[in-house]
Amino acid sequence: MVRVSAPIPTAQTLVPVQTELALWFGRNARDLPWRRRGTSAWGVLLSEVMSQQTPVARVAPLWQRWMDRWPTPADVAGAPRAQILKEWANLGYPRRALRLHECAGVITAQYGGEVPSTVEELRALPGIGEYTAAAVVAFAFGRRSSVVDTNVRRVLARVVEGKALPSPSYSAVERRLAQSLVPHGDDEAALWAVSSMEFGALICTARAPQCGLCPVQKHCAWRLAGYPVDEHADARRPQRFEGTDRQVRGKVMRYLRDNGFAQRRELDGVWPDAAQLESCIVSLIVDGLIENDGDVLHLPDAPPPPVRGVVTSPVVH
Ligand code: SF4
Repeated sequence: MVRVSAPIPTAQTLVPVQTELALWFGRNARDLPWRRRGTSAWGVLLSEVMSQQTPVARVAPLWQRWMDRWPTPADVAGAPRAQILKEWANLGYPRRALRLHECAGVITAQYGGEVPSTVEELRALPGIGEYTAAAVVAFAFGRRSSVVDTNVRRVLARVVEGKALPSPSYSAVERRLAQSLVPHGDDEAALWAVSSMEFGALICTARAPQCGLCPVQKHCAWRLAGYPVDEHADARRPQRFEGTDRQVRGKVMRYLRDNGFAQRRELDGVWPDAAQLESCIVSLIVDGLIENDGDVLHLPDAPPPPVRGVVTSPVVH
């Protein structure tokens, strides 16, 4: 394979890439509900938390349901945690829901119910990390920030660094490079953020980049270098889901979301490995995702379970 060395782009040399991706975004952006005009800063924050490690197709209907039911941080903060977890449904990683509930409480108590607008304030909120804070600053407040998710990392690794994929962990060097490539203007920076994210999600995907459709193929250092192989391939073995504690915890949470509460022995049917099941139940209690009253397990803040034989249907709403 012939390799052609490409010059390392700078903020200036990346301008043609940013321009092409902005044009591409104008023609190809998905109509996601939180991108519509009039979405509140809370709506943007909610969409970013829900979309972490979760496909947007699963997020969109649930985001809409949350915004219809609880349109403000104060509404979320005032809801019982059992309802929050129930409405989190199958988004996965339900600790995010509890952290979001705490975050809404802090925004209500400390900021009068208004989402703060600086990276520093946002990062001090429960459950809000570097990426989410930067995304809220850019997409809710239209201000310059360095928004780097896995899609942007991959696009920069390929276009700028000539690598198949970024390194397994986000390094300080990578962070500095991403920051140095953010356009100077607020609008341009926000457009670069959203267009590079969308481009990575739809065209420059991890497993099957569509280089034939790529508007920046002539600028792509990885393509120009002849697609060198991923130097970290061994460290990237796909994570299995079947049989993991995550799967078992998900089954327990689903049972309690569907039924409101359960006698401990009722859960024996959700997973065949009794030791693994027990350890997952304990970990859910430790994480605050479920509570136990004697032998009865239920979602936090749920009303007390009815006495068996007196009320026959479960009660969490
Ligand atoms: S040419 Fe292919 S690998 Fe390079 S940026 Fe375009 S889609 Fe991604």
